[in-house]
Amino acid sequence: VSSEELAKSYLARITSLNPSLNAFITIDEEKSLAEAKAADALRAAGNAGLLTGVPLAHKDIFVAEGWRSTCGSKILSNFVSPYDATVVAKCKTAGMVNLGKLNCDEFAMGSSNENSAFGAVKNPWDLTAVPGGSSGGSAAAVAARLVPVATGTDTGGSIRQPASFCGITGIKPTYGVVSRYGMVAYASSFDQGGPMAQTAEDCALLLNVMSGFDELDSTSLEREVEDYASDLNTPLNGLRIGLPKEYFADGLDNEVASAVLAAVEEYKKLGATVVEVSLPKTRMAIPTYYILAPAEASSNLSRFDGVRYGHRAAEYTDLVDMYEKSRTEGFGAEVKRRILTGAYVLSHGYYDAYYLKAQKVRRLIAEDFQKVFEVCDVIMGPAAPTAAFDLGSHTNDPLQMYLEDVYTLSPNLAGLPAMSVPAGFTSNGRPIGLQIVGNYFAEAKMLGVAHQYQ
Ligand code: GLN
Repeated sequence: VSSEELAKSYLARITSLNPSLNAFITIDEEKSLAEAKAADALRAAGNAGLLTGVPLAHKDIFVAEGWRSTCGSKILSNFVSPYDATVVAKCKTAGMVNLGKLNCDEFAMGSSNENSAFGAVKNPWDLTAVPGGSSGGSAAAVAARLVPVATGTDTGGSIRQPASFCGITGIKPTYGVVSRYGMVAYASSFDQGGPMAQTAEDCALLLNVMSGFDELDSTSLEREVEDYASDLNTPLNGLRIGLPKEYFADGLDNEVASAVLAAVEEYKKLGATVVEVSLPKTRMAIPTYYILAPAEASSNLSRFDGVRYGHRAAEYTDLVDMYEKSRTEGFGAEVKRRILTGAYVLSHGYYDAYYLKAQKVRRLIAEDFQKVFEVCDVIMGPAAPTAAFDLGSHTNDPLQMYLEDVYTLSPNLAGLPAMSVPAGFTSNGRPIGLQIVGNYFAEAKMLGVAHQYQ
């Protein structure tokens, strides 16, 4: 088939299923078909790459030239980007066809996709369940096969937790592997883009396109180009799997625990050995993250002031009143909560007690991982303590929502690569995710580990 025919068939599926899933915020058939024609031209000229003509969609945190780029927020609901994020540009150069912008929690803050100004996303496996967040639109779109692959971002689990809730595969690479240029900043020292797909193999191919040094991102890593698909079939004989005892403690759902342990048994059959390890500061991950990420967010989100772009209040008395009204009207409740928390922990008198202390604990959490990687090659555990929960069940309790992130936050605090791989279902048919965490730059190895289980 031509790239255009392929794009058309996916667009038809999006048109019929998106109204019930709400995975897309913006669809623009004309723009998508223009990209598909460009892909066909590349193919006709003999310049096609591996992914030329393959459709994808981007989490609406990535800006894309000429596309409305909202971050799931009312404050950017009419913002059309004049430029492409590096990730978007790279996918375009590879000839991939952008089918639209995917729903997400506002500014990527959330674990259920219920914090979007464009409405909640439904889990395709059960329309009464959340898809996870914040990349819930990406996970739902891939799971419902509205797109073969999608981009996501992961600041504290936002690729892995929705991947686990929707039964797909997603990887957050080592911090610095994927450029953050044009990926609207939430907590800059944590934010990392990554691929979401049905399989580890597809994730590897998309990561090959998304990754690479970018001089437009000062934290982008300058490394030799790597082929993330190179280890997909490297035998797992002798692989040492670390099981942290803290990952199988209180609060973990029984069905999730058994599915994860059953997956580990499969790995033993593939030649792996299991070592019990300890990550004693696991319980510190939630307080540490929920101090540091809001601190960075309060600074990053100060740029939304109604002056340069985004929503501006219709009436105001002076400049300060304009800032206040625009931000009051434009931001949702969770974003305001984070800005307030962040401003508080950074303020004079509380900085040492909260922000500085959390920075120190962050370092200790990273050191714990390095000790563990002396005795194992990968760490396995649950991606989340439960399977997808019911829509609306956590919305009045922010703390309960934050507890969903207990297993996903530590790799972001340490900058380590981590992924979620489908590992079965609960008795009521909701997917369960196995989390695999590797040492810095172990992406290719981890993708191979996931591939051979799939
Ligand atoms: N759930 C976490 C939060 O709300 C993680 C979000 C993310 O990774 N973007 O901050």
